Amino acid sequence: MVGIGYDIHRLAEGESLIIAGVNIPSDVGTVAHSDGDVVYHALCDALLGAIGLGDIGEHFPDTDPKWKGVSSDRFVKYAVDAILEKGFSIVNIDCTLIMDKPKIKPYKVQMRDNIASICNVSADRVNIKATTNEGVGFIGRGEGVAAMCICQIDL
Ligand code: MG
Repeated sequence: MVGIGYDIHRLAEGESLIIAGVNIPSDVGTVAHSDGDVVYHALCDALLGAIGLGDIGEHFPDTDPKWKGVSSDRFVKYAVDAILEKGFSIVNIDCTLIMDKPKIKPYKVQMRDNIASICNVSADRVNIKATTNEGVGFIGRGEGVAAMCICQIDL
């Protein structure tokens, strides 16, 4: 089975920029109820989607104060545990991060390793891609960051 996930957050000054668990030095960060980790949120939705468990908002509503400022690796771990409880395992994960700045190339290996660790798969089963929005639209203007993620799971 496969699952797909997408997430987007606004960027603003005075917020931290945490992507796939990496705290990236930046003038702007994500505005969010949780820590605003777009890759982890997209990944969580992909994992939940693969086993027909709805979406991250159903399991962790952003109206619930319990999830305020929480580290998003908890959401991913929750989805991974649900997959394992059903007797499935994760085959591979592929993520695309869309943002114009800062450049995230120096952090890609750490992002991949963080995901591999939480998902309990080897690093060669995880891929992180990054692309800019070519200066177009709100992502291009540096007002937001988006991520897409797909995963395959199997018996
Ligand atoms: Mg989100």
